[in-house]
Amino acid sequence: MHSGAPVNMRILPAPAGSGIVFRRVDLDGFEMEATGRNVARVSYATSLMKKGVLISTTEHLLSAFIGTGIDNAIVELDNLELPILDGSAQPFVALIQKAGIRKQRRPRTYLKIARNLELREGDKFIAVYPGQSYSVSYTINFPHPLIGKETFALDLEDGNYLREIAPARTFGAREDEQAMRNMGLIRGASRENCIVLSKSGIENPPLRFDDEFVRHKVLDLIGDLALLGKQILGAVVADRAGHAMHTALVSRLLRDKTLWEETTVEEENIRPAPAATRALERQLV
Ligand SMILES: [Zn+2]
Repeated sequence: MHSGAPVNMRILPAPAGSGIVFRRVDLDGFEMEATGRNVARVSYATSLMKKGVLISTTEHLLSAFIGTGIDNAIVELDNLELPILDGSAQPFVALIQKAGIRKQRRPRTYLKIARNLELREGDKFIAVYPGQSYSVSYTINFPHPLIGKETFALDLEDGNYLREIAPARTFGAREDEQAMRNMGLIRGASRENCIVLSKSGIENPPLRFDDEFVRHKVLDLIGDLALLGKQILGAVVADRAGHAMHTALVSRLLRDKTLWEETTVEEENIRPAPAATRALERQLV
């Protein structure tokens, strides 16, 4: 999307407890954990950096992992940016489903929110509150005739993510294109991998949802919060936030361990992604 660099990616199984680990096969197999501690810079995408090595635009794949209930995987890349595919998480989800999901013996540990945490920056807001499942509510206010103020809320269970969020594509305005290219961004952008907004509509209809824009922000948020390294039990609320606010929330949570506790949930009520996984398993059977 941003570098325009061709890339090959391969997702491999990993032992229980390893989390998501990126591996740069073009750099002697250099490994980088998908954690907030490795967040480098965030503007139009989230990038990780460790010892000067960059892995860019991680949010859509990490979002797909949360949505399909994948806790452990190795992601091999032979370049610095993940593939954008169609701009959504759907192709990743489809490939994960096709490869199949193996349940590992060790119980999943959740990051259970214990105290409210609210961050504000101008008119941007993001917060997380205690809750019994993982839920997200996002509001955007984008000055475009097709968008304006949109709010989308969902609980990530029973396959909600797969139906409601995974297909939502990223978007950009034609009038911002030159400025972004001048910043060295969106070199790989095309009508095939993002919704292109014109002044009054979109250049590449149809939309997959009337409110596809805010749904994509939910997708991004879930992908950025995956950098916590654990599934969340709590309610996340965001208003006009972006990658920087999402990852600021991750950093605060990782720094302040009084905000949450680690917990495993009994088999019969494991939530939220296991429900999605069960829906997946049904599809796979
Ligand atoms: Zn995105």
